[in-house]
Amino acid sequence: MVEKDRSLSRWVPAEVRQDIPSAARIYDYLLGGYHNFECDRMAVEQLLERLPHMRQTAQVNRMFLRRAVNFLLDHGIDQFLDIGSGIPTAGNVHEIVHARNPEAVVVYVDIDPTAVAHSAVMLVDEPNAATIRADVRDVDAILKNKAVNQLIDFNRPAALMLVALLHYVTDDDEAYQTVDTYIDTLAPGSFMAMSHTATEAVPDSKENFGRGLRAVSSTRSRSREEISRFFRDLSVVEPGIVLTPLWRPEGPDDILLDEPEKGFTMAGIGMKPAK
Ligand code: SAM
Repeated sequence: MVEKDRSLSRWVPAEVRQDIPSAARIYDYLLGGYHNFECDRMAVEQLLERLPHMRQTAQVNRMFLRRAVNFLLDHGIDQFLDIGSGIPTAGNVHEIVHARNPEAVVVYVDIDPTAVAHSAVMLVDEPNAATIRADVRDVDAILKNKAVNQLIDFNRPAALMLVALLHYVTDDDEAYQTVDTYIDTLAPGSFMAMSHTATEAVPDSKENFGRGLRAVSSTRSRSREEISRFFRDLSVVEPGIVLTPLWRPEGPDDILLDEPEKGFTMAGIGMKPAK
């Protein structure tokens, strides 16, 4: 049983500056959540003036997250390490997972104190899920974390979720090395699911998009080839690394199928083969 802080009753940790926008709260507001401040909402309104479909962009990513989790459950995965998990909103990984397998375990990791505080409140009565605050680049701190190790057994297949995260790791060497270390730790039969802003997806509005996000935090879009490099020797499942709306769309509720580049990202899932 993972120890949890039951005293957390507020979603705003004391150290959080309420006048500086954060990527996590901006994404929350784009998705219709309410864990955001005036400065986040203003940043989004400015972004929407240049990129009116940004809400759909966020939704497309969230829909990929759901399809990816269901794919992983279909393939027998019962351990999920979701890094850059964000502020909980509708359709969180543990909710999708536990609806189908209550015994499966989920650990959320995010650098944003608001995301972690709110996740902790939400997970108080969830023995099979935990949240920790860490930087994805601090691989050791995450892989050696007590809560992570109480829940996840890296000797068995697990899913590493890096959804809409790695464009925040702007240094290429650091980004590739970081992901390499996680992949090395995963057992054969594990999966990695990723979405990432793609240079091919933002030809017209690239500059605007970059400026919009850079106002909050630096980002680095990568090409399909550069995104593919993260997958190393994993076997990438069909349909490969594609514009996110086109990754196994499920039906009439999917959005941006006709304009998939407006999702701004590419997505894919790879499996670590047996040695
Ligand atoms: N993965 C969720 C999803 O797809 O719905 C949330 C994606 S949100 C766009 C990106 C998240 O990554 C934010 O919550 C942000 O705080 C987090 N993040 C950014 N840089 C990070 C880092 N270096 N380490 C961990 N999390 C980070």
